[in-house]
Amino acid sequence: MGELHEALDAAHRLAVGWLDSLPERKVPPRATTDEVIAALGDLPDQPRPAKDVIEHLAAAAEPGLTAIPSGRWYGMVMGGTLPAALAADWLVSSWDQNSALRAVTPATVAAEELVDRWLLDLLGLPLGCGVGMATGATMSNFTCLATARDTVLRRAGWDVKARGLVGSPGVRVLVGAERHDSIDKVLRFLGLGEPEPVAADAQGRIQPAALTGALAAGDGRPTIVVLQAGNVHSGAFDDFAAAVPVAHDAGAWVHVDGAFGLFAAASPKLRHLTTGFEAADSWATDAHKTLNVPYDCGIAIVADDAAMRSSMGMHGDYLIQDDAGEPFDRVPEMSRRARATTVWAALASLGRSGVAELVERFCHHATMFADGIAQIPGAEVLNDVVFTQVCASFGSDEHTQEVVRRMLVDGTAWTSGSRWHDRAVLRVALCNWSTTDADVEATLAALRRSAA
Ligand SMILES: *Cc1c(COP(=O)(O)O)cnc(C)c1O
Repeated sequence: MGELHEALDAAHRLAVGWLDSLPERKVPPRATTDEVIAALGDLPDQPRPAKDVIEHLAAAAEPGLTAIPSGRWYGMVMGGTLPAALAADWLVSSWDQNSALRAVTPATVAAEELVDRWLLDLLGLPLGCGVGMATGATMSNFTCLATARDTVLRRAGWDVKARGLVGSPGVRVLVGAERHDSIDKVLRFLGLGEPEPVAADAQGRIQPAALTGALAAGDGRPTIVVLQAGNVHSGAFDDFAAAVPVAHDAGAWVHVDGAFGLFAAASPKLRHLTTGFEAADSWATDAHKTLNVPYDCGIAIVADDAAMRSSMGMHGDYLIQDDAGEPFDRVPEMSRRARATTVWAALASLGRSGVAELVERFCHHATMFADGIAQIPGAEVLNDVVFTQVCASFGSDEHTQEVVRRMLVDGTAWTSGSRWHDRAVLRVALCNWSTTDADVEATLAALRRSAA
């Protein structure tokens, strides 16, 4: 036990040291991957004490760490980690529960079943929905779309479980032109091929009239429609109140990719963005984005729990299975980390009002960014800032790309470059509980320096 205590004490000291360094630290890493490989070194011939390994790891890795948990990281869409979530995650690792079966790990399955109910309540979704905790939104989209595929084909008289896809009627998948790339990847895994894009408007929202037209031009194949809550460039939400009924009238399954946007439904002030989304058939979101728990934690929700368990469930004679359904019956993975326990801690620490305030604060800071950027000579905010995303141009594509580069050299904050509507853009995504007004002011000052 002496070696264990020494290693854990070292890890605790080093973790706190890292977190304490965040406010003053430059956001980008100082070392490259190859430099860290050299510092980590070769496979040792002999065992080494755990504490030495931990100290070596932290020292070698430190220059290559990016301050993603800081309040000045705005790249991609990556959340921070709430204190209760981080501390709970340490316990989850220590407890080492393989949280798959009720009878084997009652404590962590209890947390998971509570979290399932709490999430449906917070998001305003029907309480009978099936909820699965997967590794991220990609696998949550996979879980929902696998259930969608199996269900629409079953309705057409084809049993995918028994017969596979070869010879089946096939499935038509309609997606907004600006869906997230992970949708295409998941459809590949599911043997459904490339989706059919439907025109989007200036904010990247699927156009309901174009969707109606595409559905009417169908060839009789079973159909899935994928909508989006939160466009990675504009933050825009599809018009669910218009699109869901149109899709349902055509007999389609409706899935909503809300990796970071679904939590708008937890705020009374932002809930209007998701109006009508509760009528969909499935929803995917991430807890490691807006909800600020550590990686890796996604959430798959399906209105028809029995369909979800039929597509994801399995049976093994050596398992002790419960009639109430098992956590591993609703996700692709079998052995699984008790990631819902960490979500339980995040929700228990925030409470209902805290979740709403968290999302509203992201939006408040996005508006601060938009207002500040609009005042920079030559800069222009390209999207309607309705949620947590800001997309800006600083003039020509070359100039915008140069601002993105200079921001990285400056190091005050991390903003990422992208292309949107055929223009180079600088993106700002608000997704960290610890971001303050002062962080936003400091980043705007860095943007003014970089743009000049
Ligand atoms: C991040 C994101 C995904 C993929 O989520 P992962 O957790 O990275 O797998 C899917 N859709 C949208 C809209 C996203 O922002």
